[in-house]
Amino acid sequence: MDEKLKPCPFCGGEATIREYANGHKGNGTFMASYKCGCEKCKIFFECTSEFVLEQGKPKFIQNGYDTATAKWNERSEGSGTR
Ligand SMILES: [Zn+2]
Repeated sequence: MDEKLKPCPFCGGEATIREYANGHKGNGTFMASYKCGCEKCKIFFECTSEFVLEQGKPKFIQNGYDTATAKWNERSEGSGTR
């Protein structure tokens, strides 16, 4: 599931992504928040997804999961620059 995540640039440990909050705005828009990063170093990117359901399938307005993993991987590639 987490195969897209690169290892932590600081400790080389495994990076994780987890959902820590979800809900909906009451107008048909659902939200889910993600934290992506290293548990050991306490470095995380937090991003929120927003989506609506169209015919039972989620349609993303904002894909927080992809944003968080992309940001993490960018940092990982640019290790040393913080
Ligand atoms: Zn780390």
